[in-house]
Amino acid sequence: MDTATIPEPISPVKDFLSKPQKLLIDGKRIDASNGETFEVADPSTNTILTRVPKGGKEDINLAVKAARNAFENGPWRKITVSERGKLIWKLADLIEARTEEFAQLETLDNGKPLAIARAADVPLVIDHFRYYAGMASKIHGESIDISVPYAPGAEFLDFTLREPMGVVGQIIPWNFPLLMAAWKLGVALAAGNCVVLKPAEQTPLSALHLADLFAEAGFPDGVVNIVTGFGDAGSYLANHMDVDKVAFTGSTEVGHEIVKASAANLKRVSLELGGKSPSIVFPDADLDIAAQGVAGAIFFNQGQCCCAGSRLLLHKDIYSDVIERVADQAKNIKVGPGMCPDTNMGPLVSREQQEKVLSYIRSGEMAGANTLTGGKAIGGNLEKGCYVEPTVFENVDQKMKIVKEEIFGPVVVAAPFEDIDSVIARGNDTEYGLAASVWTKDINKAHKVAKGLKAGTVWVNCHNIFDAAAPFGGYKRSGFGREMGIHALENYTQVKNVIIQLNN
Ligand code: NAP
Ligand code: MG
Repeated sequence: MDTATIPEPISPVKDFLSKPQKLLIDGKRIDASNGETFEVADPSTNTILTRVPKGGKEDINLAVKAARNAFENGPWRKITVSERGKLIWKLADLIEARTEEFAQLETLDNGKPLAIARAADVPLVIDHFRYYAGMASKIHGESIDISVPYAPGAEFLDFTLREPMGVVGQIIPWNFPLLMAAWKLGVALAAGNCVVLKPAEQTPLSALHLADLFAEAGFPDGVVNIVTGFGDAGSYLANHMDVDKVAFTGSTEVGHEIVKASAANLKRVSLELGGKSPSIVFPDADLDIAAQGVAGAIFFNQGQCCCAGSRLLLHKDIYSDVIERVADQAKNIKVGPGMCPDTNMGPLVSREQQEKVLSYIRSGEMAGANTLTGGKAIGGNLEKGCYVEPTVFENVDQKMKIVKEEIFGPVVVAAPFEDIDSVIARGNDTEYGLAASVWTKDINKAHKVAKGLKAGTVWVNCHNIFDAAAPFGGYKRSGFGREMGIHALENYTQVKNVIIQLNN
């Protein structure tokens, strides 16, 4: 691909990229306190898009202070819940009006195909904020009849208040940069918290563009603070003694660090970590739909999904048929720069991620797995970008790294199975438990497998279906706490019980 043939972004995106990028702290756009910046690259060509502030300890301190002040002393806690909902709705409207800008920024920064960013990422973000805009006025406690057996004759009124946590730190990854920001911010704001958000170093741009909109939507200063930087900034935030809760999405390895960091002030933690999710196909499935579905389950977003269907379990009777179809699909995926309209799959997010995925592929080959298709970086016209061929492995066993570990790239491992019980056991033979999909027309099989799998989401005859109302999160080492839906409120509220003795 000649870089000259990649379509240029629209003018507002060019304007955004040419202006100096700033942190958002206490409603002001400022440089990092040490003045440092870092480069942000377009993974389709590795050209530099812009530089952003490299926030550090001092900036996290300032952001937490601003959030604390906004929470304790600002107008935020005094405005009505209806007003709070309107602010979040207005934010959604402002994003909607800039759908193309956000979609292009996401594609330039992350690499994903523009058609996907435009049709899936940004609309989901808008819908998500609207869902939680509506929820702001529906968060409430309950009244409880109590008996108090040791106080005969006394009368009590018991009720609960559902209150915000306070200052919330949110650390997000690079695979769906704007969507992860929305998953974190929507519910936190609906519940009345103040936030410090730390985007991933690879993909800070859509969050910085979002930072432009909070004041316009009418949010008081300090309610949302955004600090771009490296892992050390995330670590300061997770360790900060004045942060009441940390929400993290990313690697299981850093998830462990977050839990350790929470110990000092016992801050609340929610974690959305890695996965090694199975896609399970039975012979009675519609095999055209299933083969397409399980290929999409792994290759969507270049395989960089925590819930990617990275382990393909195919019933032995249809194994050869389906694996061939998946390999054909992989071969026919049009890989290229996300900005090109005919691209189905973009580059991985960075050179580092490309190398990590390639090293997993090599480990699979060395362990004796058979590469049906793919297995290499893509050279030629695409050499400058971080591309990896869609890759299908078979002849794998449970001990191989490519079967056990999250690769986070377009690499699937396939194995046959015999019956329902063995496929449930094999599906659960992983330290992760984020998601799974089951492909069958038999409702009994679908229910049995869904019940047997230890995973936070089970899709039947689909994969990667998300909705603001549907809870998402992990079993086992895929984390704890649920995002989205009413369940996410548990992460961002605490219950206060009030008991009143009624005197006569
Ligand atoms: P990561 O290190 O877990 O990064 C996620 C976020 O945490 C980023 O904002 C990161 O900042 C920040 N961070 C890094 N070290 C931290 C620390 N000690 N304390 C607090 N925050 C910290 O993930 P990655 O290195 O970008 O990717 C590595 C692997 O993680 C991937 O290959 C993939 O397997 C997995 N991953 C999973 C998900 C998911 O959705 N579950 C998403 C992304 C990656 P920096 O960006 O500055 O490092
Ligand atoms: Mg990292």
